[in-house]
Amino acid sequence: MTGTLIVGGTVVDVDGSRDADVRVDAFGRICEVAPNLTPAAGETVADATGRLVIPGGVDAHTHLHLPVGTVRVSDDFDTGTRAAAMGGTTTIIAYVTAYRGEDPLHAALTWKGWAEPSVIDWGLHMTFTEPVSEATIARCIEAGMTSFKLYMAYPDLLQVDDRTIAEIMMATARHGGLVTLHCENGGAIEALRAQALAAGRRDVPEHSATRPAVLEGEATHRATAIAESVGAAVYIVHMSSAPALAEVRRAQERGVRVLAETCPQYLHLDVSALARPDGANFVCTPPLRDPWHREELWHGMSRGWIHTVATDHCPFWAADRAAGFAGDEAAADFTAIPGGLPGIETRMGLIWDGVAAGRITVEDWVRLCSEAPARTFGLWGTKGALRPGFDADVVVWDPQRTQSLDADALHMAVDHSPYAGRTCTGWAERVWSRGRLVADRGRFVGEPGWGRYLERGPALLEPVG
Ligand SMILES: [Zn+2]
Repeated sequence: MTGTLIVGGTVVDVDGSRDADVRVDAFGRICEVAPNLTPAAGETVADATGRLVIPGGVDAHTHLHLPVGTVRVSDDFDTGTRAAAMGGTTTIIAYVTAYRGEDPLHAALTWKGWAEPSVIDWGLHMTFTEPVSEATIARCIEAGMTSFKLYMAYPDLLQVDDRTIAEIMMATARHGGLVTLHCENGGAIEALRAQALAAGRRDVPEHSATRPAVLEGEATHRATAIAESVGAAVYIVHMSSAPALAEVRRAQERGVRVLAETCPQYLHLDVSALARPDGANFVCTPPLRDPWHREELWHGMSRGWIHTVATDHCPFWAADRAAGFAGDEAAADFTAIPGGLPGIETRMGLIWDGVAAGRITVEDWVRLCSEAPARTFGLWGTKGALRPGFDADVVVWDPQRTQSLDADALHMAVDHSPYAGRTCTGWAERVWSRGRLVADRGRFVGEPGWGRYLERGPALLEPVG
């Protein structure tokens, strides 16, 4: 591989926005960022005039290949990471789930096997669904899985109690890791779901009605209070509502180290989608909310109360969603629909939309989508900025490039799009993963297996210098 010189663009990262060229060495690392660099012999020159040059996106919340009940997430690590690359994301972190009775390290090996075909670099978070020993936590961290997910919902399969949350937070903090939490009050939600079914309310909109925002706010409060009491940091995944954001702010104001993630679906869609004929395709958890929550979330991003944007990418074929309704129509109900939306390819474009609309700055966009997730999940020093020594995960972003968000215009393995009929103005033009071109003006030019497993370090919670 020869080196590459990306010339004429506006570089945007943690060091600000400036006109500069970016030199990538033959080993796939950034070696120089400065104005008016002269091409060296044999170097490939890429013109970025009139475009932005940004660190590749880091999507810290993805589900690929995941078995769910009798079906499976439709994207595997090959198709999912291709789609990510086409949209300007060069690093993903996927969630491993260790189900009750399962050895977490063994579960991680299964996921590592699935992830082999990845076309971009990838890391793994570990999900615990029961109490674990401190030794297990230490072993996960030694293996480069420095963040753990716990669920406050889904009591049948995933939820852990408050004591377990507190104990895992304590042990994780001692070993330099970070706990991430799914914040919804699982017990109250189960009661609301049972009540709805008993009253004969079975339609798709009940999915949202039985998971109200107030129960996301309650669990978010509990998460931050537990973190505060044990002296740990906490990361709130897929925050969807104003009550949850208000709890995050209250905790931040009293000095709790709470980091919040939101997702494009909570910024661009609302609960009315669930009442459409294809409403089942909009089932995700937490559910889509009333439109006013979106305004609060955009505002929270612009003010720095929300730290990251990830996707919670979790697509299913429409037929697999409908399988919940198959067979005895009289028995069909909203609780049988596998939940999760496609989004790994459209994140950078949908958040850029907020830059174009004046809701956030271009620097906010890079921080939310690349820098902050890299810092938070132990990838700083290699991912999330265009500094010498960092991996050359680089995107030339064309603010004028248009991209249809219809399913057949995208690369995710899924037959429907939550954003069908919409067009993004502003899209990835060329994308490099460790110096290797992987997406070139709408063509995928990478290769399966190029992506490497990322052994992640401790979270970096302080601002970077
Ligand atoms: Zn998720």
